[in-house]
Amino acid sequence: MSYEHELTVLNPATEEVVATVPAATAADVDAAVARASKAQARWAAVAPADRARLLRRFADVVDRHVEELARLEVREAGHLLGNARWEAGNVRDLLAYAAGGVERLNGRQIPVPGGLDITLLEPLGVVGVIAPWNFPMPIAAWGAAPALAAGNAVVLKPAETTPLTALRLAELALEAGLPEGLFQVLPGHGPVAGTALVEHPEVAKIVFTGSTRTGRDVMERCARQVKPVTLELGGKSPNIVFADADLKTAVDPFSFLDNSGQDCCARTRILVQESVYDEVRELLADAVASVVVGDPADEKTQMGPLISRQQLDRVRRLVPSDAPGLRGIAPDGPGFWFAPTVLTGEAPDSEAAREEIFGPVAVLLPFTDEQDAIRLANDTPYGLSGSLWTRDIGRALRLSRAVKAGNLSVNSHSSVRYWTPFGGYKQSGLGRELGPDALTAFTETKNVFISTEGPAQ
Ligand code: NAD
Repeated sequence: MSYEHELTVLNPATEEVVATVPAATAADVDAAVARASKAQARWAAVAPADRARLLRRFADVVDRHVEELARLEVREAGHLLGNARWEAGNVRDLLAYAAGGVERLNGRQIPVPGGLDITLLEPLGVVGVIAPWNFPMPIAAWGAAPALAAGNAVVLKPAETTPLTALRLAELALEAGLPEGLFQVLPGHGPVAGTALVEHPEVAKIVFTGSTRTGRDVMERCARQVKPVTLELGGKSPNIVFADADLKTAVDPFSFLDNSGQDCCARTRILVQESVYDEVRELLADAVASVVVGDPADEKTQMGPLISRQQLDRVRRLVPSDAPGLRGIAPDGPGFWFAPTVLTGEAPDSEAAREEIFGPVAVLLPFTDEQDAIRLANDTPYGLSGSLWTRDIGRALRLSRAVKAGNLSVNSHSSVRYWTPFGGYKQSGLGRELGPDALTAFTETKNVFISTEGPAQ
C-alpha cells in the first residue's frame, strides 16, 4: 500500500484545510532516533536538579502559550475551546509534576550479608510515544513528560489528523532550553512512521495510546524484540445507576458526550436499575435534546464535531438512523457532525452495546439487582473505567471490588488526574501511566552488590 507524502490537516467543523505537513518516512525515523540517542546520553548525565529546572521552564513556556495551543487544538481537532484550554493546562501541570519527581527518583539499599546491596534506577534510552487524535496534547505529555524526567529522550508520533499541537510543543521545548534532539515530533502514517518507531532496535520502550486493534499489532512487534510496551487502548465503560442514586447527576449526558464521545473513558453503557429505568429515560431524553452542538470556538457550544469523515462513517455504520433511541440535533455540514444519541433498543450482546463506537452515543440497559449489574458491567472485552452511583457505602465498596476496570469513580464521573495512576484491565491496556510511579516506568532497575569482605587473612 502506498501512502501520501503529506498529511492534510482539516478543520473538522468546516472541512477547510488548516495545514499540510510532511509525513515522516522510515529513514526519517532512523535519523530522529540517532539524534535522540546522542541527546539522551548527554541528558542522562545532567544533574537531577538541573533536569528538573529545565522541565519546569518547559512547563512555564507552555503556560504562556495555553491560549495559542488551545486555539490550534480547536482548529485541528474540533475540541471545545474551554476543553482545549484545560488540555494545554494539563500538559503544563504534568511537566511540572514530572519535574517534581526527578529528585525523588531513588533506588534502594537492601540488607544482605557480607556486603551492601543497592538498586540503581537507570533511564531506558530513547522512548517512542505514539499518540491518538482524541486528546492529542495531554496524551503526548502523559508519555513524554515522565520519560524525559527519568532521563530518556522521546520521539513522538502524533496521529495523522492532529500533528499541529505536538509540533508546536516540540518548538516550545527548544524555546525552554531543552537540548536539541531530546524531544522530537515526527508526524506520519501509523503503518509507516509508527511501525518504524516500534521496530527500531534503538527504541527502548514504546508507549502506545490508541485502538485495541492497533495496540495488539504494536505489542506483537515489540514482543519480537522483547521491548517493553505500555498500552492505553479502547473502552466501553459502564455507568451503573442504582435506584437510590441522585439520578439527575448520575445520568449527566456529558459523561458520554464530552469530546463528542471520542473519549476512551466515556460512560457509554448506562446501566440502570429497572425500577428507575423510565425516569432515567425521560431525564436523558430532555438532556440529549437540549445539547447545543456547533462551532467549537463559540464558548456557548456544548458539543463539537467528530474528528474526520472516516470516524463519522464508522459511527453512522454502528448507529443507523432508524435504530430506536433518544436523539438531539446536529448541524448538517460541512463538518463531521453526529447528533447526541442514546440507544434504547439494544440487546446487551449487540455490536453497539459491546463495541467502542467513539462517537456521541450511549446505550441504555436495565438491570435487576447488584449481581445483575456486576454481570452486565463486566460483560465486555474492555476494562478502562466506569462510574457507580448509590448512597449505600457497602454496595459502593462491593462494586468497586467486583467491576473489572482500572479507573472507577463512585458518585462521580471523573477519570483522570495526572497525580493518580491510570490504565486499563483486560483489552483496555497494559501498564499504568501518570501517578506517583510514572517516572519509574521509564527506568531499568539495576541491582549492585558490593562486598564488604576484607582480603583473606
Ligand atoms: P489508532 O489505533 O488508529 O491510532 C493511534 C496511533 O497509532 C496513531 O498515531 C496512528 O497513526 C498510530 N498507528 C496506526 N497504525 C499503527 C501501526 N501499525 N504501528 C504503529 N502505530 C500505528 O487509534 P485512534 O483512532 O487514533 O484513537 C482512538 C482510540 O484510542 C480509541 O480506541 C480510544 O479508546 C483509544 N484511546 C485510549 C486511551 C487510553 O488512555 N486508554 C486514551 C485515548 C484514546
